[in-house]
Amino acid sequence: ESKLQLLRSHIRAFPDFPKKGIVFRDICPILKDAAVLKAVIDLFEEHVRNSHQHVDLIVGLDARGFLFGPLLAQRLGVGFVLVRKKGKLPGPTVSVAYDLEYGKAEAEMQADAVAPGQKVLLIDDLLATGGTLKAACDLMRKMQAEVLGCMVVIELKELNGIDKVQPHNVFSLVQY
Ligand code: 5GP
Repeated sequence: ESKLQLLRSHIRAFPDFPKKGIVFRDICPILKDAAVLKAVIDLFEEHVRNSHQHVDLIVGLDARGFLFGPLLAQRLGVGFVLVRKKGKLPGPTVSVAYDLEYGKAEAEMQADAVAPGQKVLLIDDLLATGGTLKAACDLMRKMQAEVLGCMVVIELKELNGIDKVQPHNVFSLVQY
């Protein structure tokens, strides 16, 4: 509980960013404080260990999933792989297209990043509409990986992102 309080007190809200009407939740203060960042990784690690599932890989989402994913993967003694925005990864890739509020995007992964049947946990900083995590789950299905679940630091509840990501479950540390 005190770790969660510590975490909560290190998330800042910026109204009207990146555009009017949006309240942006800023996680930078978490990273700036070693004890808070450690508490976040402790909480994720506890959750994974309590689930008693065998995990092969942690899959991090571009870009703030890359800040937490490798730290958690190290704790668990497993590898970390990246889902990136299109065009950033060299060599053969697999991708899925998804809709943004305005226009389209593609989530991409190196074709050899995950082997068929591997059990993966997805991680990002924040769940909003769920579009980003859903695309990553679709990408995992395309690669024939098994999604054990998704983890985020923050869930914005009123956007119902959890519905979009189901049947996969999303574990969050802090909800707004
Ligand atoms: P979604 O696809 O669920 O609508 O949006 C989630 C993605 O957008 C995540 O990758 C997250 O990093 C980013 N995002 C959207 N809103 C926020 C926010 O308020 N704060 C942060 N830190 N990231 C956000």
